[in-house]
Amino acid sequence: MEYIIGLLLDYTFVLVGLFFLIGLIILIVSLGHVDDIVRVKSSRAVYSYDYVSYFKDDNNRIYRVENALNGKKKVYKVKIRYISPAGRSSRSKVIKITPDKINHIKENPTLIMSSQQLKDQKKAEKELAKKEKEALKEQARLMLEEKQHSYYEKVNSIIDSANNLKSIIVIKEDQSELDNLIAALFDRTVNSIKKIKDMNSDEWIMLDKLIANTADNVQEIDSRNKKITDYYNSSDFMQIKDTCKNLMDSQRDFNEYIEEKAESISTLFGSRIIRNETVNQDKYDYIRPYKKTISPFTAEVSSTVFASAENNPMDYIIKYFYPSKTSYPEQIQKLKLLIGELETLREAKQIIENYKKEYQQYLTDVPDYITKYDEDGFYARLGFAIINESVLTVEYKFTYTSNGGLAQRSFSVPMIEDTIIELIERLESKLSMDSFKTEQRALMTSKLRKHIKERDNYTCRYCENSTYKEPNLLLEIDHIIPIAKGGCTIEENLQTLCWKCNREKGSKIV
Ligand SMILES: [Zn+2]
Repeated sequence: MEYIIGLLLDYTFVLVGLFFLIGLIILIVSLGHVDDIVRVKSSRAVYSYDYVSYFKDDNNRIYRVENALNGKKKVYKVKIRYISPAGRSSRSKVIKITPDKINHIKENPTLIMSSQQLKDQKKAEKELAKKEKEALKEQARLMLEEKQHSYYEKVNSIIDSANNLKSIIVIKEDQSELDNLIAALFDRTVNSIKKIKDMNSDEWIMLDKLIANTADNVQEIDSRNKKITDYYNSSDFMQIKDTCKNLMDSQRDFNEYIEEKAESISTLFGSRIIRNETVNQDKYDYIRPYKKTISPFTAEVSSTVFASAENNPMDYIIKYFYPSKTSYPEQIQKLKLLIGELETLREAKQIIENYKKEYQQYLTDVPDYITKYDEDGFYARLGFAIINESVLTVEYKFTYTSNGGLAQRSFSVPMIEDTIIELIERLESKLSMDSFKTEQRALMTSKLRKHIKERDNYTCRYCENSTYKEPNLLLEIDHIIPIAKGGCTIEENLQTLCWKCNREKGSKIV
């Protein structure tokens, strides 16, 4: 028994010693356990190696370590080791990677990038930024273009309504006002819309103002003309017309005669030049053409010609409106006739004004806007001959429009008696002297006309009617032998005739 106990005691020591030993071995093994081992190429590298180096060497390690740390493990151990080529010396250390460190890496991914990776990343970032910038730029360009289009559309809608309005305009002055409005709108928009490069430029505000103003003005012309048309269709006006009818009938011939004269006068002024019926053509196809009214006797010229014409208007009037030398003799005759006709029309205008005064008592309840805006149209509708001031003051006009219609300049030479006389003399000087006898070259100036009327005591040589008997009688100076048949402008060949007798004589000759 004692033996057994003694034996047991002996073995207990052995067993305890054995267990202790096993425990020690397990402890040593578990203490020495690492999750990964990295070999480095120098002993110095062992010191400098850290968890950043570990992930930098192989980026995939981060996932592996992360997975491992997701389990029970709280620390991931990596042994860094250097063994010399001969195996004689070695050095090592263990780095511990915790979730904190993983997070740090994840927050700063550039830490574990190679220099090439960094370079690539920077390049990619740069390209992305460039693309974004380009996209923004393109977007801005499209927005700007859209804005420009919308402004061209605004302008076009005004031009559309102006084109429609033109056909129904009653007031003559409004015709040219509309032309000017559209020309100004065109000049200030056609190129400038394209030139604005900034979405928020103040120029847009200015354009808005201009467009709104023009639209308002066009609208105003439209409603003014509608109002006036309405009046002419009203019973009020019909009544006035009826009242004046008998009176007008007695003057119908006179009015017709004067109207014909006024109309024919423009044929005495040389050739009419009409070019560029629609000057407002836009090379960008954005702005629709506007049917501009070209005033008679307008020459549209280049900037060089314009400058020369300004310095020497008479030469350029001859060049542009009297282009053919062979028709000079005929044109000279017409110009001579013109001087007399203009004078006659001026006198007729005064007589018509006198008639108008006589009619005032019948013109009841005529709205103010009629007398203000369409006096001529009103009287014309009653049957009066209208001698527009523009008929009496005909002008030769030179205009120059710069490319794209940005700027327009013009000047006019009014054909007053002195200018017409100068023109006649210049044309004659260009012809050989023989073709004109001295007597033929005499001109029927207003001075001469006055003299003949005085000589004939303001009495018609045919019917003996006079301004004493009929204060509103229109008297004219007649060539006894017409100029066309070689008659001269000399006292002996001139006589005073009333307009009726002159008209009759004229129709007999024709
Ligand atoms: Zn007479």
